Amino acid sequence: MNRRVYLDYAATTPTKKDVLDEMYPYFTEKFGNPSSIYSFGREAKQAVDVSREKIAKLIGSKQEEVYFTAGGSEADNWAIKGIAYANKDKGNHIITTKIEHHAVLHTCAYLEKNGFDVTYLDVDQDGLIDLEVLKNAITDKTILISIMFANNEVGTIEPIKEIGQIAKEKGVIFHTDAVQALGNVEIDVNALNIDLMSVSSHKIYGPKGIGALYIRKGVKIHSFVHGGAQEKRRRAGTENVAGIVGFGKAAALAMENLDTHVNHLEILREKLIKGIMEKVDYVRLNGHPEKRLAGNVNMVFEFIEGESLLLSLDLVGIAASSGSACTSGSLDPSHVLMAIGLPHEIAHGSLRLTVGDFTTEEDIDYVLEQLPIIVDRLRQMSPLYEKVKGGQK
Ligand SMILES: *Cc1c(COP(=O)(O)O)cnc(C)c1O
Repeated sequence: MNRRVYLDYAATTPTKKDVLDEMYPYFTEKFGNPSSIYSFGREAKQAVDVSREKIAKLIGSKQEEVYFTAGGSEADNWAIKGIAYANKDKGNHIITTKIEHHAVLHTCAYLEKNGFDVTYLDVDQDGLIDLEVLKNAITDKTILISIMFANNEVGTIEPIKEIGQIAKEKGVIFHTDAVQALGNVEIDVNALNIDLMSVSSHKIYGPKGIGALYIRKGVKIHSFVHGGAQEKRRRAGTENVAGIVGFGKAAALAMENLDTHVNHLEILREKLIKGIMEKVDYVRLNGHPEKRLAGNVNMVFEFIEGESLLLSLDLVGIAASSGSACTSGSLDPSHVLMAIGLPHEIAHGSLRLTVGDFTTEEDIDYVLEQLPIIVDRLRQMSPLYEKVKGGQK
C-alpha cells in the first residue's frame, strides 16, 4: 500500500488514545445525566466539573468562567452575537480583521444586516494587524474587538497582549478566537487582558463537536441556548459528557507537553520549509517568518494551481490543504491570502502543510521527495513557467 502522510493538523487532529480511554466509561457504565441528583448523575456532573477545571488551568482562568459549547464555531457565534445584543444600548460598532475564521466573519456579516457596524482591519504582508490603526478605529460606539490569536491559514500570531491592553484602556470588550493557538502557545487570559476566548477540542487531539467559550466574570452577554439550567442557564442542553471528558484530558495533555510538542513541531516545520526552499524554485513562505504557529507551513508555488497540487499530493498519499478546509471546494482564492496582498493568480498556487504530534522526520522526507517531482510536472504544463524559464537562459 501507498504511504499515507497527514499534514493537515490545522484542519483537525486525531483523538489521542489516552483521551479516548478516558472518554469510554462515560458512554457505558457512567452514562448518567449530570442534571440528575442520584449517584449516576453526580458522577457525570463531577466529571464535567473536573474537565472544566483542566481547561481553566490551561488558559489561566477561573473554573466558573469556562462554558462548554459544541466547538469553536459555536463559541465564536456566541461570543460575538451574545456581546453585540447584550451591549447594544452602549453602541453598535464592532472591530475585527479581514483574516478571521468564517465563524467570526459570517457572524459579523449577519450582525451588519441587523443594525451593527463592523470595521474589518487590514493586515500587513505577514498577516499582522497594525495597533495604531486599531486604536484609531475605536469610537465611542465600539462595544467589541474580536481578533484571532493565531491565523489558521498562514499561522501568524497576533499581538494579543497589546490588543488586550488597548481594549482595556478604552473600555471595550475583547474576544479572541484562540482555536489554533490553544496547546501551541502559552495562554493566560488575565495577563493578556482577554475578556472572551473561543477554543475547540478537535484541534488539540480531543474529540470533535466540543469546545468552550471563556467568559470573564462580570462581562455582560446574552445566553446562547435557552432551555435548561446547564452552563449557568447560558448554554442549555444536556452536556456532551464524554466529549467534555475527552476535551479535559486533551487540555491536560496539552499543558503537560506544551514544550516538547512545540519543539517537535518547530523542528519538522523548519525541515519542511528549508527542504522545499532548497529543492523548488519560485516558492515563498506566507505568514510571518517568526511570529507563527509551530506547526504551520504555508507556501506559494508560482505557476501552479493549488487545487492541482492538492490532488496530485493526494494521489501519493499526502494530505494537505490549499487554504482552510471550510473553503476548499470553492474556487475563490482564500480571503486570508487576499488580505496579505497576494495577487489572485499567486494566491491560487498556495499550499498549507501543518504538522503535528504524530508527524515524523520520515514523513517530511517523503514529502520532500514527492513534492518537487509533482511541482515540476505541473509546471511543465504551464506556458507561463516555460516563458520565464526560457527567458532566463
Ligand atoms: C477550526 C477553527 C474554528 C472552528 O472550530 P470547530 O470546532 O471546528 O467549529 C474556528 N476558528 C479557527 C481559527 C479554527 O481553526
